[in-house]
This record gives sequence, structure tokens and C-alpha cells, in this order.
Amino acid sequence: EQIPVIAVDGPSGVGKGTLCVSLAKYLKWHLLDSGAIYRVLALSALNNHILLDDEAELVKHALSLPIEFNTIETEVNVLLENIDVSIAIRTQQIAEAASKIASLQNVREALLKRQRDFRIAPGLVADGRDMGTVVFTDAPVKIFLDASAQARAERRMKQLQEKGICVKFGEILQEIIERDNRDRNRTVAPLRPAADAFIIDSTSLEIEEVFNQALTFVRSKI
Ligand code: C5P
Repeated sequence: EQIPVIAVDGPSGVGKGTLCVSLAKYLKWHLLDSGAIYRVLALSALNNHILLDDEAELVKHALSLPIEFNTIETEVNVLLENIDVSIAIRTQQIAEAASKIASLQNVREALLKRQRDFRIAPGLVADGRDMGTVVFTDAPVKIFLDASAQARAERRMKQLQEKGICVKFGEILQEIIERDNRDRNRTVAPLRPAADAFIIDSTSLEIEEVFNQALTFVRSKI
């Protein structure tokens, strides 16, 4: 019997992170934030002056990257060479760089095993762009979370404002649209719902409603 996986995919800023953390906590399952792996690789590449289109060098780097996820109570911290980079990987610059290196086929392949290693009993909630279509194609539960770019930009704006960061709405919207286009239109593992994914459009849903719909679907499957 395979260890169960809940594969959650969707565009940036759609609330996948929030949903996955809630599901993992509720079920007491493990959590994979696959985007964080791409972000850490991007951060490390920039620190080591590796060009973001130098595929061979990035692959070498990906295979030896000392990434660790540390869960302390409910918080997941990302460590790179034992340094906590949880905050450093959340910048706009790193998001951009991550999305660039994520379009390289061999880089994605180099990160496959690392992601599959998270599949540990009793189960895994996996957050990403290709969890249901590439990394865990046999996942018994696949969810695709979507929302309009406008709604995602509004949420992101609110989050930033709450942190006291002042940004222009137009710039956030533009950035979201650009990253989406790159993730959806790349030839390798493009962002799209798996054929057997349950699609939740969260454009006009509260967080609790998204969670409840997801949990109802999970329960119908496992
Ligand atoms: O989800 P997050 O915003 O942290 O991901 C950063 C970038 O990493 C995404 O824009 C995407 O290009 C890439 N990514 C990916 N496949 C995943 C997770 C993230 O290509 N499974």
C-alpha cells in the first residue's frame, strides 16, 4: 500500500500554502512546500554567482544543495547550510529567479527525488505547480486551487500592507500575471490541473470555505 499524497497545485498567491498547512495540521501529515526548494536553489545560485540559465551548473548545485526543512511546533523553517533562510527566500527577486530556473528540464529532474523523499507515513500534503501532474502522478487526491489574478493581487497587497510594506497595486498585479504566464506556458511541467484534479476556484471564497471544500473532497477519496 502506497503512502497517500494530497497533491495541491495552482498559481502563485492563490492560498495553496495556507490550505496545505491547514490540511497537514488537521490530518497530522507531512508537508512539502516544493516552491521553497526552487526558491532555495535560486537563492543559493545567486549567492554563488551561478547564472540562472547555466543549466549544467544549476543541476550540479541542485543535487548537492544542503536544504533542510525544520518543523518547530507549527512553523516550518527552511535551512540552507544550517542558516535559516525562511524569510530571505520570500522576496520578489527570489520568486522571479525561482520561476526562471524552474523552467529548466534538467533542474526539475534533479529535484524530483528530493521531493519524492517527503512521502513518509502517515501521508503527505504536497504544495506546488506539478505535484499532481509530474511529481506524484499516483496521488489519490489531487486539488487544483485557482483564483483570478485580480483577487490574488488584492490578497497579496493586503498581506504586504499588514506587514507595513507599501507597494503599488498595478506592480503586484503585473508581477503575478508575468509569473503565471511563465509557469503556465513553459514546455516542461507547465502549470495545469491534472485530469483527475478537483478544481476549487477561490476567487470569492473565504479561507475556511476553501478548507472545507478541500477536506470534503479528501474524505471522499481516502
Ligand atoms: O510557490 P512559490 O511561489 O514558492 O514558487 C516559486 C516558483 O517556483 C514558482 O513561480 C514556480 O515557477 C516554481 N515552482 C515550480 N514547481 C513547483 C513549485 C514551484 O515550478 N512544484
